[in-house]
Amino acid sequence: MQVDEVLIRNVVAQVLAEVGPPPPVTSGGHAGRHGVFTDADEAIAAASEAYNQLCERGMGDRKRIIDHIRRISVDQCVELGTMEMEETKIGRLEHKFEKLKTLGEKSPGVEFMKSEVFSGDHGLAVIEHAPFGVIGAITPVTHSLPTITGNAVNMIAAGNSLVVNPHPSGKRVAAEGVRRFNEAIHRDMGIDNLICVIAEPTLETADIIFKHRDVKLICVTGGPGVARAALNSGKRAIVAGPGNPPVVVDETADLDRAARSIIQGASYDNNLLCIAEKEVFVVDQVFDRMMDAMERAGAARLLCKEIAELTRNAIIQVGDDKHDAPSKDFLGQDAAVLARGAGRPVSDDVELLFGETDESNPFVSVEQMMPFVPFVRVRDVDEAIVKAKQYEHGFKHTSIIHSTNVHNMTKMGRALETTLFVKNGPCMASLGLGGEGYLSFSIAGPTGEGVTTPLTFTRERRCSMIDDLWILGRP
Ligand code: NAD
Repeated sequence: MQVDEVLIRNVVAQVLAEVGPPPPVTSGGHAGRHGVFTDADEAIAAASEAYNQLCERGMGDRKRIIDHIRRISVDQCVELGTMEMEETKIGRLEHKFEKLKTLGEKSPGVEFMKSEVFSGDHGLAVIEHAPFGVIGAITPVTHSLPTITGNAVNMIAAGNSLVVNPHPSGKRVAAEGVRRFNEAIHRDMGIDNLICVIAEPTLETADIIFKHRDVKLICVTGGPGVARAALNSGKRAIVAGPGNPPVVVDETADLDRAARSIIQGASYDNNLLCIAEKEVFVVDQVFDRMMDAMERAGAARLLCKEIAELTRNAIIQVGDDKHDAPSKDFLGQDAAVLARGAGRPVSDDVELLFGETDESNPFVSVEQMMPFVPFVRVRDVDEAIVKAKQYEHGFKHTSIIHSTNVHNMTKMGRALETTLFVKNGPCMASLGLGGEGYLSFSIAGPTGEGVTTPLTFTRERRCSMIDDLWILGRP
């Protein structure tokens, strides 16, 4: 052997030891695109190729793929979160970082992929959870890349690939995040385009995804319009729709704890969370004390005429029926910006504004997504529950009570029938952030899947062995 040859072999061995073996050669015509497409049909074709390649791999490889998504979401949360903030211009920068990090760390992955077994006199049946194939996902502007992160972890853990039509106002960060995920996955695993994104999303590209025969399942996260569109798509749809979460505070509540919880939940990312506290019904007996507790906990109270001024500026009338909606100038903006709109400046460190309104104020019925929360005085807990149900609008999304009376909690839980029902904590505790349970940013109320997990994106398959393999049975 020549000296040069030995040297080269040694160098190659050293490189391999450091970076691992090169990925297997990728088949398919779209490798190298890293998931970013302008043409929806092409994106679906690329995601189909990726799905077929994933089918050849085991659960260990799915985990390794997901670990890249997790690592990038966590390690690059500052850069990607800043990008999301600069593009969408809503919410709070520190929460953009935190959401990416949280979704990266906590989204349910392959550990949720469990099978069920029935065994007995007639043998053994194993029920396994198989992928659908290519899933079409629609994501909101309120959490553009975080929703993609959570969806991708769930869906790939279940063995699927996905094509995302992001909100047009969050399309750049969506494409950049997806590009980074795919690049890392491709480099390590040799599969590209497991997550595809439409770089210039429109209603037409969404429609192509909804109707395409190679898209086997739809998952939409957004408001009433997209929820309706998905349900009319003719495909099985998992719909994570809108909410308007009401809060009830009864006379038995720990008022300081309630105030801290409401501020934490309602001010998070300037009230963009679909689960966030949007309107509060407080029984008359403790109403004034609750308002004091809110001020003690750091929220700024607006006077009646200031609320009227904010309402004039921040709630607009849209559509043919001129229904109330949040104004883009105020949606997701800081409390200090809203306070200026109310004609009452507050310091930049104030996280939440609040004040007494009656139930006819549009802040009660509208999903405002901005850090002003109306407090409505009610006679007793029964009236509070009736009004909470009325203004939740039957979305059955999220509701919250602050109380130490288990009977009142039970009454409210039964009446509202929401997917998430929180007692004595901020809204996010219901997603395992300060409470028990697990996390997803796609909470499917209307179609019933609840907080999504990998199993949400699977189809059941049963494998039956007749008269054998019940090893406990008698011959
Ligand atoms: P949005 O409804 O304006 O848009 C959501 C997505 O749907 C976007 O990508 C948008 O382009 C698309 N879209 C809208 N109409 C469509 C149609 N007819 N056909 C196809 N696509 C369409 O909502 P948003 O402002 O981006 O997000 C906020 C809303 O999302 C709130 O109502 C909030 O409650 C809801 N949301 C729900 C969850 C949940 O888990 N249930 C999570 C986050 C946000």
